[in-house]
Amino acid sequence: MTFVLRAAGITKDDDEAKNVVRCPRCHFLTPDSEYCSNCGALLKVTEDDLTRLEANRLMYRVL
Ligand SMILES: [Zn+2]
Repeated sequence: MTFVLRAAGITKDDDEAKNVVRCPRCHFLTPDSEYCSNCGALLKVTEDDLTRLEANRLMYRVL
């Protein structure tokens, strides 16, 4: 959820002050941007996060 909060601009931590983020896929420290400069992975929201969020959304819709 940290990535979602960060994408929404909610979190404020030291990493943002340094303008670098650690890639969730390759753990490369990359300049803060939408994609990892090393492997091209989405940095703000991982595919796992998207899948989980979608699953939660569907579950709430059913309930
Ligand atoms: Zn990467």
